Amino acid sequence: MPRTHLSTLLKLPRTLIATNALIALWLALLANTSFLSKIATLTPYHDWRYPAFMAAMVVLLTAYINLFLTLITWGRLARPVLTFLLLASALTAYFVDTFGIGIDVGQIQNMMETDFQESWDLATWNMLAYVLVIAGLPLVWLWRKPLAPEGFLRRQRNRLLGSIGSLILVGLVASCFYADLASIFREHRAIRFTIVPHNYVTGLRSYFKQHQVSSDVPLQKYGEDAHRAAHPGKPKLLVFVVGETARAESFGLQGYARNTTPELAKLPITYYSNVSSCGTATAVSLPCLFSGFTRKDYDAQIAKHREGLLDILQRGGYAVSWLDNNSGCKGACDRVQRVPLLESRKAAWCVKGECRDDLLIESFAKHLADAPVQDRVIVLHQEGSHGPAYYLRYPKAFERFTPVCNSNALQSCTQQQVINTYDNTIAYTDHIIASAIKTLAQDSRYSSALLYVSDHGESTGEHGLYLHGAPYLFAPSQQTHVPMLSWVSPSFAEREPAQASCLRKRHADALSHDNIFHSMLGLAGVETAVHNPALDMSAGCSSH
Ligand SMILES: [Zn+2]
Repeated sequence: MPRTHLSTLLKLPRTLIATNALIALWLALLANTSFLSKIATLTPYHDWRYPAFMAAMVVLLTAYINLFLTLITWGRLARPVLTFLLLASALTAYFVDTFGIGIDVGQIQNMMETDFQESWDLATWNMLAYVLVIAGLPLVWLWRKPLAPEGFLRRQRNRLLGSIGSLILVGLVASCFYADLASIFREHRAIRFTIVPHNYVTGLRSYFKQHQVSSDVPLQKYGEDAHRAAHPGKPKLLVFVVGETARAESFGLQGYARNTTPELAKLPITYYSNVSSCGTATAVSLPCLFSGFTRKDYDAQIAKHREGLLDILQRGGYAVSWLDNNSGCKGACDRVQRVPLLESRKAAWCVKGECRDDLLIESFAKHLADAPVQDRVIVLHQEGSHGPAYYLRYPKAFERFTPVCNSNALQSCTQQQVINTYDNTIAYTDHIIASAIKTLAQDSRYSSALLYVSDHGESTGEHGLYLHGAPYLFAPSQQTHVPMLSWVSPSFAEREPAQASCLRKRHADALSHDNIFHSMLGLAGVETAVHNPALDMSAGCSSH
């Protein structure tokens, strides 16, 4: 009797849709043991929700792989495609499990550029075992008999049903565990490189895309006519502070019930209360800010291969430098001086490779003191309020709002603890921006001005959302309403009184990241056809 059962089971699912589903389940369970065991250690649950969460992860993984298989298996090519996928997945799983490495485009590049002899050196008995079990067993089953014949329409109908079913499952599990998944994937970005076959498929795709794009798209000039009239007096110094994950509603200056910005409140700054970001993630907002595109027109591919704000300022005669305490400038600073942060101060400000923004400020002060006095633009890229490990962003002295959440598993804390911790990061950013302004105010060699804007906001549990990155259309105001402020030195105000008064008058206007590019050019006095005075916050106020 059991024999009959087994043979019926093996005979039954030979349609394409059932074959895909079985292979998806097989790969989810056998090729993803590294991913699943990592997830198991990161889940915040220790009660009955633990097995429920893990089972949901297997369902999510299976549905996701099944969706992918359903999209790539067509007609006679279905079995060869599945064969390639099984073999590649077995090999990838072997490398991920054995070396604990994630497979990304860099690994794919290594592999592509390794010759046959070197690859052969990596082969082991263990690897053979992986291939035999993970790929071999299903391949025997797959090739033993042809797939069940189905009419064309019937197969397409099944394909559609399979895709919709998978999508529903993915959506269902993802929405049930959104907060956990968002937190895990945000803090452990590398974990996605352990998901087989997602890791090598996306790696291969970016590898070929990069090769195609980087080889045939030359850098496009932008603002080639940039120039600047000679001017008397001190050189200009413009400092642009790019904030990270600071939201307007948590700024004391915005009217937040808590005074999270006491130091800035004492300085002669202008705070802008109605500012929206270009994107809800650094990867969008940062290149967008420097691109010269408005949010509506922003095109990442064009922006990537076109000169931006810093190129134009440089062409206009400014020395431009970039100091980064974040994960880099995403192309915005490719052709300007990048100033490394002070090695000698890392012991004081960094823990496990993550550095508080005081390191950025000290490095900035040192750079300013050492750099020759000339027209100059300095960009400071903060680590700011980057989550979910808010508690790592500020020194103990800034733990003003308690109790805090001393964990990156935000769901293990109360919402109030999460908000307290987040507010402490804002209080620290208040101190950081105020320190930058004080550094400028003490330097009488320049006429200086400072502009600060955050790249995007953050959700701290409102509407059940955490962190950021929501699609812009659906994003809550917490993620898109960002703090912005300006400061000008007395000598700058004296020299450019119209600009200084215009900056002050705009405090309640509806502004956005769209204004930054044009305002920086305006403040720098760099003239070019790509400067749009209508978007320049320092221009066009005389009739107000
Ligand atoms: Zn960001």
